[in-house]
Amino acid sequence: MTVIDLRSDTVTQPSAGMREAMANAPMGDDVYGEDPSVNKLESELALRLGFASALFVPTGTMSNLLALMAHCGRGDEYIVGQQAHTYKYEGGGAAVLGSIQPQPLEVQADGSLDLAQVVAAIKPDDFHFARTRLLALENTMQGKVLPVEYLAAASRLTREHGLALHLDGARLYNAAVKLGVDASDITRHFDSVSVCLSKGLGAPVGSVLCGTAELIGKARRLRKMVGGGMRQAGQLAAAGLYALDHQVERLADDHANAQFLAEGLRAAGYEVEPVQTNMVYVQVDERAEALKAFAAEEGIRLSAAPRLRMVTHMDVSHSQIEHVIAVFTEFSRQ
Ligand SMILES: *Cc1c(COP(=O)(O)O)cnc(C)c1O
Repeated sequence: MTVIDLRSDTVTQPSAGMREAMANAPMGDDVYGEDPSVNKLESELALRLGFASALFVPTGTMSNLLALMAHCGRGDEYIVGQQAHTYKYEGGGAAVLGSIQPQPLEVQADGSLDLAQVVAAIKPDDFHFARTRLLALENTMQGKVLPVEYLAAASRLTREHGLALHLDGARLYNAAVKLGVDASDITRHFDSVSVCLSKGLGAPVGSVLCGTAELIGKARRLRKMVGGGMRQAGQLAAAGLYALDHQVERLADDHANAQFLAEGLRAAGYEVEPVQTNMVYVQVDERAEALKAFAAEEGIRLSAAPRLRMVTHMDVSHSQIEHVIAVFTEFSRQ
């Protein structure tokens, strides 16, 4: 039985074309700056997203950490969503390794931060306070897409107040495909952007941090410090390049499958949140563990959470979603 894994879009296997691109990738020692495939990925993505420079890193967590540490010094502060990945899901790395104080704000229903609350959270220039240096946004935020007008307003606000603006764009391309815009129409509002290649884009490993030459220079130094300087990383970079060239437009299929799943579950009586991209949130409350076990018997891997997240990706087909809907329907009748 092939397993239908809906826990995350990180679980994809490299496609045949991607494996071939990886096998044929030219390689060198990237700590010496001599890996042609890594150099190509960095220059290509910087160009596409409108930045001077870029840095290939093993994970999105490291990419965000390097960005926060490159923007903020010890005792500086960044404003961030209470539910944001950098604040909640990265082991407190910015605080542990960067001595950066987070100022979390509640995320609004649409995934944005209230800009009036952001302004109110910026500390005055007074020695009692940490120095507020940076605003970090996330897009998509739990599958929700931030409107480009909002990004423009956030950009104006940060410039007016002398802050930098960072985007955790782990799923930047889901946002761009959903809006039908070029990814650069999103990224041009930011001073730095982190993009995951290992989520919906389907690469096995890797993220890229984009920014100014100065910022990326600092991040390169920090990457070495935290042990992220890789040697012949070209095969991984080649997977990323292949994903950017061949596996962006197909994210629309994942979004359609997520809509289809949400509609099927609603028809079966489940309470499902509105779906924008590739994430479906369904309220299963105290049935979470039982549902997980029931689905596992039918070849479906789920997390166990009262507010259950299911994520569509390139290794889940439309007909497999039909099976998932049938299994959930059966479970609800028990
Ligand atoms: C996955 C993810 C990251 C980075 O995760 P890694 O597992 O470290 O690559 C960062 N931000 C968001 C929003 C993510 O979903």
